Amino acid sequence: MTATLIDGKAVAERIRSEIAQSVAQMKAAHGIVPGLATVLVGDNPASHSYVRMKRKACADAGIESLPHELPGNASQEEVEALVRRLNDDPRVHGILVQLPLPRHLDEERVLSLISLHKDVDGFHPVNIGRLAMKGREPLFIPCTPHGAIVLLEEAGAQFEGANAVVLGRSNIVGLPAALLLIHRNATVTVCHSRTKDLPAVCRTADILIAAVGRPEMVKADWVDDPTSDKGYRWVGDVAFDEVKEVAGAITPSPGGVGPMTIAMLLKNTLRAAEMALSGAV
Ligand code: NAP
Repeated sequence: MTATLIDGKAVAERIRSEIAQSVAQMKAAHGIVPGLATVLVGDNPASHSYVRMKRKACADAGIESLPHELPGNASQEEVEALVRRLNDDPRVHGILVQLPLPRHLDEERVLSLISLHKDVDGFHPVNIGRLAMKGREPLFIPCTPHGAIVLLEEAGAQFEGANAVVLGRSNIVGLPAALLLIHRNATVTVCHSRTKDLPAVCRTADILIAAVGRPEMVKADWVDDPTSDKGYRWVGDVAFDEVKEVAGAITPSPGGVGPMTIAMLLKNTLRAAEMALSGAV
C-alpha cells in the first residue's frame, strides 16, 4: 500500500494566504500592522537562514518584521535589555528569540522575560505550563508541534483513543507535541534516547510523530502495516521511501512540517496583534 501524502507546503500556503487577508483587513480597518521582532544572537548559519525565511514569510503576509542582531559574545544583560525594550515597544506584537542561544547565555531567563502576550513561539514557561495543565489555555502554542497537529487534522486523523507515539521529548517539539495529543484524547507514549526496543513501541502507533533529528531513523518495519485501517500515521524523521509503502498517511520532507512551522508563527503574530487591538493586553 502507498501512503496518502500530507502536503504541508500546500496547507501552509493556504494558511499564509488567509493570514495575509486578515492582516490587510486589520490595516484597512484599524491602521495597525502586526509586527514581529526577531532576535538573533551570534552567527550560527542555520539560525540566520531560519530567521531570513521567517522574515520573508512576514513580508509576504504584510507583517512587519523588525530584525535585531547581537554579536555572539553579547552579555546576558544586553540580551535581556533588548527583550525588555521589545516588550515595551507597541509596534512589536510578537518576539521571536531564535534558538539555540550561545552557550554562555541563560536561555530560560531570556525566554521567561518575554511578555506573555508577545510570546509567539510559545516557549514562555507559563505558556508551556498552561499547555501541560488540564482546563488551562496557553496564549500561544509552539509552532512546530502545532503545525504537525494541524497537518494530522487536515489528513483526517482520529485522535480520540488513538495510540500516539512521539519520538523525542525536547521542550520545543517532542514534549509539546505529546501534550497536544493528550488534549485530543490520544493515549500517548513519549520515546527518547533511553527507550527500550523503539521499533516495537513505534509499531503500536496509530499516529507517529518523529522529532529526533536523526535522518531516516524510522524504518518501514517500525510502522505497523495499516491494512487493518486503524487510522492515519504521520511521520517526520523517517526513511520516507520505505515507510510510505506501509503507512496510511505521511508527510514528505521537505514540504512537511517545516512550512507549517512558519505558517503557525505568522498565525501567532496575527493573534498577538489582535489581542493588543482588542485591549486584552
Ligand atoms: P533535540 O532537542 O535534539 O531532541 C531530540 C530528541 O530525540 C531528544 O528527546 C532525544 O532523547 C531523542 N533522541 C535522540 N536520539 C535518539 C535515539 N537514537 N533514539 C531515541 N530517541 C532519541 O531535537 P529537536 O529540537 O526536538 O528537533 C527534533 C527534530 O525536529 C529535528 O529533526 C529538527 O530538525 C526538527 N525541527 C524542525 C523544526 C521546523 O521548523 N520544522 C523546528 C524544530 C525542530 P533524550 O531526551 O533522551 O536526549
